[in-house]
Amino acid sequence: FLPHLQKMEETYIMIKPDGVQRGLVGEIISRFEKKGFKMTGLKLFKCPQELAEEHYKDLNSKPFFPKLIGYITSGPVVCMAWEGDGVVASARKLIGATNPLQAEPGTIRGDLAVQTGRNVVHGSDSPENGKREIALWFKEGELCEWTPAQAPWLL
Ligand code: ADP
Ligand code: MG
Repeated sequence: FLPHLQKMEETYIMIKPDGVQRGLVGEIISRFEKKGFKMTGLKLFKCPQELAEEHYKDLNSKPFFPKLIGYITSGPVVCMAWEGDGVVASARKLIGATNPLQAEPGTIRGDLAVQTGRNVVHGSDSPENGKREIALWFKEGELCEWTPAQAPWLL
């Protein structure tokens, strides 16, 4: 067991096409930055149909699946990998409930959206899916391991 080689928990966060079209990219990224998580991947990307279907394969029997795939492939998305202790559950809290009308004010969906079918952002629902989704959306060389500089003004 080599603790320094253990990977931190990581999650896949994606700004959906409505978030990009509405100019919410900076606002959404800043919520994760300000919280204190570390970004390890970032790209603007037009998602092919097959990738959207693979990403959401657990939902492929739902009646809304074709609409969901149409939505995710309708325009560019912003793909992100974020890392940190407890980042998966914390990101889900920052994002808020699936239905934006039920999402608490202060959450991304609670503040910025009104429709389940246009809920501006995705976040992985488990550390396993975080790894799976990052591997699905990013190629090896696109991710960046880095160590933030020490912040002596905090000591
Ligand atoms: P979450 O994104 O909160 O993890 P789910 O995994 O249940 O939610 O669903 C994935 C995505 O599918 C949702 O974010 C939303 O965009 C879409 N979706 C879920 N339920 C519905 C629905 N009833 N009608 C339309 N779209 C839906
Ligand atoms: Mg989900």
